[in-house]
Amino acid sequence: MTPRARILLGADDLRAANRRLGREISDAHPDGVLLVAVLKGSVIFLADLVRELTVPVEIDFLGISSYAPDSGRVRLTKDLGTDLAGRDVVLVEDVVDTGLTLGYLLTQLRSRDPGSLGVCTLFDKRARRILPQPLDHVGFEIGDEFVVGYGLDFRGRYRNLDLVAAGDLHTLAADPDAYVADLYP
Ligand code: 5GP
Repeated sequence: MTPRARILLGADDLRAANRRLGREISDAHPDGVLLVAVLKGSVIFLADLVRELTVPVEIDFLGISSYAPDSGRVRLTKDLGTDLAGRDVVLVEDVVDTGLTLGYLLTQLRSRDPGSLGVCTLFDKRARRILPQPLDHVGFEIGDEFVVGYGLDFRGRYRNLDLVAAGDLHTLAADPDAYVADLYP
C-alpha cells in the first residue's frame, strides 16, 4: 500500500535541531531572553527548546486565530502577561509559510517596544513566502508539503506525534484516520 504520509523527521532529528537552536539563542542573548510562543502549534517545540537554553529564560504565550486561511488576517485570542518594554524577546513559531501571520505578530510585538525582537521557527517554507520575513533561527527549511506532528495539527489532531510526518493536504483531508496509520507499524 502506498503510504499516505512519510516520516520527514524523527525524534533524533528534532532533538539535534533543538540543541543547535538552543545554542544559537543562548549565544545571541547571553544576558537572558524572553521566549514568546504562539499557541498552539509551537507549544511542544517550545517545551523542548527552552530546556536547551543555557541563559536565564522566561516564557509567555500568544493565542491567535485566523479569519480565513492564507488571508493573513488573524486576531489575538490570548494576549501576553509580560511587559515587553526593553526586553530581549524571541518569537517562537511552528511554521512560517506565507509569512502573513508572522508579519501581523511582529507588528503587534514591535508596538510594545522590546529592546530586541528575534524570530525562531521550527519550519521555514521559504518557497511559499508572500511577505518576506527576517528569520533569525530556523530549525528546518521544508518544501511545499503539509506537515503534522510534534505540535502541528490537522483539524486539532496529531499534535502528540513524536515525529513529523509530511504529505499532501488533499490526501490527508480525504482520509485523516488512515493518513498516519502507516507510520507506526
Ligand atoms: P502563514 O501565515 O505563514 O501562511 O501561516 C503560518 C501558520 O499556518 C502556521 O503557524 C501554522 O499554524 C499554519 N501552517 C502552515 N503550514 C503548515 C503545515 O504544513 N502544517 C500545519 N499543521 N500547519 C501549517
